[in-house]
Amino acid sequence: MDNLIPHKQIISTHKQVVSEIVEHDLCIGCGICVGICPSNLLEMSWQENGDLAPDIDGKCPPSCDACLTVCPFGDHSLVETTLAMQDFGHNNNIKTDPDLGLYLETFVGHSLIDNHRKNGASGGMTTWFLETLLETNRVDAIISINKSDSEQELFEFQVIDDIQTIQSIAGSVYHPVDMASVIAQINQKGLEKNYAVVGLPCFIKGIKLAMQTMPRLRRRIKVTLGLTCGHLPNKFYTEYLSEISGIKAGDVQSVDYRIKKRTNRAGNFKFQATSKTKKSGSALAFSDISNIWGAGHFGMNACNFCDDVFAELADISVMDAWLPEYEYDTDGNSLMIIRNQELAQLLLDGMELNTCKAQPISASEISKSQSGVIFHKKYLLEARLFWAGLQGLKVPQKRVQPNPAVYQQHKWQVAARFAVQSTSKKLWPKVNKSNLKLFSLYIYFLSLPIVLFKFFTKISNLIKNLKKSYFFKRKIN
Ligand SMILES: Cc1cc2nc3c(=O)[nH]c(=O)nc-3n(C[C@H](O)[C@H](O)[C@H](O)COP(=O)(O)OP(=O)(O)OC[C@H]3O[C@@H](n4cnc5c(N)ncnc54)[C@H](O)[C@@H]3O)c2cc1C
Ligand code: SF4
Ligand code: SF4
Repeated sequence: MDNLIPHKQIISTHKQVVSEIVEHDLCIGCGICVGICPSNLLEMSWQENGDLAPDIDGKCPPSCDACLTVCPFGDHSLVETTLAMQDFGHNNNIKTDPDLGLYLETFVGHSLIDNHRKNGASGGMTTWFLETLLETNRVDAIISINKSDSEQELFEFQVIDDIQTIQSIAGSVYHPVDMASVIAQINQKGLEKNYAVVGLPCFIKGIKLAMQTMPRLRRRIKVTLGLTCGHLPNKFYTEYLSEISGIKAGDVQSVDYRIKKRTNRAGNFKFQATSKTKKSGSALAFSDISNIWGAGHFGMNACNFCDDVFAELADISVMDAWLPEYEYDTDGNSLMIIRNQELAQLLLDGMELNTCKAQPISASEISKSQSGVIFHKKYLLEARLFWAGLQGLKVPQKRVQPNPAVYQQHKWQVAARFAVQSTSKKLWPKVNKSNLKLFSLYIYFLSLPIVLFKFFTKISNLIKNLKKSYFFKRKIN
């Protein structure tokens, strides 16, 4: 674990996000603190270990704690359940589920508009909502990720107000991208505009925290769309995949993480990088790189202390339909958890107008689709929190409590994941890029214990379920 990262340029001795979050390796790189800092002292920058995090240059005013109040990994009592109750609890029809949080409706489906589905990460329903929100003038602009206009970055959050661009940015971005400049832009004095924001669960939490104290953000952000999230790898993930696909990391112009063409299963999408000279790297099937993703190589440490799988604070959460009945529909389907009545109506209207195809699905099916992520993010968090306590590490307040029994049962799995993450991040900058074979071999062997743990957990769960249904049948008989 890259704990207690030494930081350049710290002049302030005052408590702020760099001393309280970044130095404890708890920053996810959302940039919201940078976007709202009233003294403009913070700036996002790439860290040596491949993470994106703020640096500070200057002295904070004595009583200022603005950055800490908006940080999703700040130690405050406003956990997701409390914030969700504030936003959605007033609706008499709201339901609650231990995994999904609060929700009104749950659907599965896909877009029927243009190439939404073809270009979308799953069923293209996020793009469908973004386009529909713009077209029906419910919002003036969308905040989402696009390819960066700058030479230095691959992606950036942008303010987008045309449908053509919304369609062109479909897909998933597995790379740290900060919201600093768009948050500052929304918060500017002057022109009132309404926005819809797309983000990972922790980003949506940061936005909701910022909306608590910043009236302009509260007034202007009308809709939030959350992407269900397992974890976020840092920039070395993209560099490594680009290099093994034949494109030098420094020469990458653009990256597509989820090409659907010619896949055999919905989850077996391909990664492809394109160079600045428009040369395409070889397409890497997810099945060939799944150990890199699954074992958590190059992962951001903050994700180890996150218990929001479904973006519980978003007006709508969208995710892949990882269910057996959709596995072979390689065009893709989206699962949706809707918490906002207006969005539920928008979807029903779309179904009637034939711009999308959707049907209700149970909350338990949605949980089932993410069972691996729930196990990792919620159940194993009990073990990780206990482990962090043993190490004397600072961790933010969580809804999940440290649990010595879970730790005892899974300590090797927990230790292996931390080791995989931190070693891959330390080693990658030192690897001889002209000979990647050794590093790839290292990745393979280091992933093995985690892959095996996952395999055995699956088998033991299967046996438990079989036993349960056997005894259940005997009872009935
Ligand atoms: C890091 C990460 C981890 C994920 N983990 C899971 C998981 O464990 N299980 C699961 O079911 N789904 C996961 N997803 C969500 C999934 O990949 C799809 O994004 C989701 O199913 C929506 O698909 P869609 O076809 O509706 O979206 P699209 O129609 O393709 O639209 C996606 C929109 O989201 C924007 N976008 C893409 N990446 C980001 C990002 N990082 N931050 C903000 N906006 C972004 C795009 O620009 C586009 O506007 C994850 C996504 C990310 C980025
Ligand atoms: S998680 Fe976001 S708000 Fe917190 S320190 Fe990092 S960039 Fe700032
Ligand atoms: S796992 Fe949690 S902290 Fe990590 S990117 Fe996803 S929502 Fe954010």
